[in-house]
Amino acid sequence: MTMFDSLNEVKEELLKCMKCGNCQEVCPIYLEERKEGAVARGKIRLVDALLNGNLDYTDGLAEKLSLCLTCMACVAKCPCGVKVDKIIFGTRAAIVRNRGLHPVKRAIFSVLKRPRLFNLGMKTGSMFQGLVFKKHASLTGSHPRFPFGLDRRRIIPPLADKPLRSQLPEVVKSENPVRTAAFFTGCSMNFLYDKAGLDLVSVLKNNNVEVIIPKDQHCCGMPILAHGDAETALEMARSHIDIFSKLDVEHIITSCGSCGTTFTHHYVDLLKDDPKYAESAKAVAAKIIDISDYMVKIIGIDESKLGAVNMKVTYHDPCHLNRGMGVKDSPREILKKIPGLEFVEMKNADRCCGSAGSFSLTHYDLSMDIHRHKSDAIRDTGADSVVTGCGACIMQLADGMNRFNMNVPMYHTIQILAKSYEAKAK
Ligand code: SF4
Ligand code: SF4
Repeated sequence: MTMFDSLNEVKEELLKCMKCGNCQEVCPIYLEERKEGAVARGKIRLVDALLNGNLDYTDGLAEKLSLCLTCMACVAKCPCGVKVDKIIFGTRAAIVRNRGLHPVKRAIFSVLKRPRLFNLGMKTGSMFQGLVFKKHASLTGSHPRFPFGLDRRRIIPPLADKPLRSQLPEVVKSENPVRTAAFFTGCSMNFLYDKAGLDLVSVLKNNNVEVIIPKDQHCCGMPILAHGDAETALEMARSHIDIFSKLDVEHIITSCGSCGTTFTHHYVDLLKDDPKYAESAKAVAAKIIDISDYMVKIIGIDESKLGAVNMKVTYHDPCHLNRGMGVKDSPREILKKIPGLEFVEMKNADRCCGSAGSFSLTHYDLSMDIHRHKSDAIRDTGADSVVTGCGACIMQLADGMNRFNMNVPMYHTIQILAKSYEAKAK
């Protein structure tokens, strides 16, 4: 039995909580709302009441459980090691089992799990995006022209003319290959930030890494799991384990902490009782590595390849990259080695930006209230650019900074390394 099948499976985590309230100090939602129901301790009480039969699966309960960014700040702070993220995911799955899935979510998730249909939708969207979105004057993003589920104040990046995986062969050869690695592109690099994806592949090629990019890979399923649809997420997990298990590679590179955490934690949890997949899920999880860790710990940063990049940058820690995958030092190590680049640490760099994937879609104003602290911290550094390691954070930071009158460009860490290689080559 997994926590996605039965709420009883999170009991052990509930019992660990000694109700100290330390989680209040770090919970971005509690710090805005100041309501006990928003913080981990309050949610633990609610889930406990649910399990004891003192509470029902009501609209109110579903709304309270939706108020969590799964940022894991409480997990890192908790003196008792309560895995609050597991409690949230398990309870959301129980809510869907009891109340069903909203028809709109069901429709969206049924497209996400069908890669061909999803790709077709995104390609069509790329062709007609000008009809639905109006270009923003100062940024490389657009506003929705009509209210169709997206807040019209939002700035969103344009869809790539062609998805990243359609621009590259399935095997990207290198002249003198010394390593082979697989690349899980994730949706953001595939459909939005294709230039960052091309930079990632070019950096790997430059280091004699042959890159395998399976064409049949698809969304990791994190947004689906976060909404409690464990059944669909399970299908997606099995499909990815099939795809990546058959590759003869030492590493599977990710460029987004949420995708990486889904492979390393959620797939293992989802498949732990599946006799066919349990072991292969663990084997795939053991090969997952974020691109900045891969460059620092596996390849090693060769300073003779680095040219000057004259920028003043600060770095935002994506929650799932930092607390989910434990990647915090490698991006900084890369940035600090680049000649000409001035790195300034921002205050609370590991505080959530308020995105949490679809949280910013369903709770836009609250997500922007949370983001405001990030914009202030970035402004205080005087940096001319912001670097991070997650496409969803890039999207949220760009939108939020526009809201707070800042026009600072955003980059994925690997793009800065690619810039440095290019500068040297010139
Ligand atoms: S910090 Fe941990 S033990 Fe303390 S109230 Fe929060 S979840 Fe419970
Ligand atoms: S995961 Fe983040 S948002 Fe959710 S309760 Fe913990 S600190 Fe708050």
